[in-house]
Amino acid sequence: MKVVVVGFGLGGLGSAWHVAEQVPDAKITVIGDERPYVRHKLRLVTQGMDLWVSTKHLESKDVEIILDKVTKIKREQKEVVLSDGKTIPYDYLILATGSNPTIPSRLRGGENCAVFRRLEDVQKLIDEKPNEVAIIGASFVALHVADAARAIGAKPKVIVRSRLIRRSLEPELSAKLEEFLAERGVEFVHGKPKEVRDSKVIVDGDKEVSSEMTFVATGVSPEITLAKEAGLELLDGWVIKTDQQGRTSDPDIFAVGDNATVIDIFTNKPIYMGIGTAASIMALNAAKALTGFKAAYRVPRFQKDVFFGGIHMASVGLTSVEAENEGFEADRVYLSGDGWGDYAYLVYEKSTKRVLGFSAISREEVGWKGMEVMMAMIRRWPVSKLGVEVS
Ligand SMILES: Cc1cc2nc3c(=O)[nH]c(=O)nc-3n(C[C@H](O)[C@H](O)[C@H](O)COP(=O)(O)OP(=O)(O)OC[C@H]3O[C@@H](n4cnc5c(N)ncnc54)[C@H](O)[C@@H]3O)c2cc1C
Repeated sequence: MKVVVVGFGLGGLGSAWHVAEQVPDAKITVIGDERPYVRHKLRLVTQGMDLWVSTKHLESKDVEIILDKVTKIKREQKEVVLSDGKTIPYDYLILATGSNPTIPSRLRGGENCAVFRRLEDVQKLIDEKPNEVAIIGASFVALHVADAARAIGAKPKVIVRSRLIRRSLEPELSAKLEEFLAERGVEFVHGKPKEVRDSKVIVDGDKEVSSEMTFVATGVSPEITLAKEAGLELLDGWVIKTDQQGRTSDPDIFAVGDNATVIDIFTNKPIYMGIGTAASIMALNAAKALTGFKAAYRVPRFQKDVFFGGIHMASVGLTSVEAENEGFEADRVYLSGDGWGDYAYLVYEKSTKRVLGFSAISREEVGWKGMEVMMAMIRRWPVSKLGVEVS
């Protein structure tokens, strides 16, 4: 069986790795325009960390690695085309092309701003040595830029439209995170960024935030160029639609990681997650599917992070706001200590007490508690199974 993987980030690396383990006689070729590195630790390059991931294991399994760009998928011939026109045949194709940062079109001057996705982006920050860095956005990537800016001795100024890491944190925890980071030297400016010009960001039409280097970290869009051109089904014209195993509308083509949907564990509908933890499970699911395995591991949303070397954040499943949006009659309970972290909320369905989500901000590690909650959520346990009593 010939398996071609396009993209050599977390999803591509994981796919090649798992196919090599699951289908030992497969002839695997990975084609990527970058060598793999730990993208979610980009900020640590400012502290001299080497992020490259060894490919020795893949090489020992005779995986062929091609550093190039795939320019086209020829579905009828079942081959991909490289930038020099050379073609590589496949029986199964796994697309792991990731995503690209987006710059909102309504932000005037936004096209001149920096983004934070690839090694060259963090290198640019290091080389330019700015004293003040403005960051537009409140996502975890925005906070990584703030962390990196502080590490090179610059003043980070985060411009927030709504609240920090809104999709993953309860509102009070966004506020708590902001408080902790402000204590560590991050300046927060609340409002709508309108324009970037003359070394400043104009917010709400009247506030001016001075900045020697401005980053936009407001979101990503899936890299779907190849898939779209090949006529694969997309969800909302924006992301590759897959089933629970990662299979696209072409049964011989899979998509994993930031370019594809996952099946939501609550609604069983395809949704976009765009996080590394999901990419890893999606890669395993695609490899398993090639063995004829019919089921799939579920892909819950799980994020954990450490900001500024000491502020831990964990988030699993739905926040109470999202739970309501998904149609659950949800409630939440505040927790602190006993491994839950300094400030935490557990979200549950009112009628069944079933666990729906968890988020925490803490000076202590909370990732393990997040894992416990994740298991409970997947198994549809009530909160009492986690030792939490609610009336
Ligand atoms: C700063 C930062 C912090 C993050 N922190 C977290 C975190 O704490 N937790 C978490 O879960 N996630 C985190 N993420 C998200 C996580 O990094 C991504 O979800 C993950 O990298 C997705 O992996 P991927 O393989 O799908 O895509 P990518 O890592 O983007 O890899 C895709 C690769 O494919 C290549 N490619 C694209 N098209 C082609 C082509 N035609 N031919 C050849 N190669 C191609 C791209 O250049 C790229 O190298 C973070 C991301 C960033 C940027």
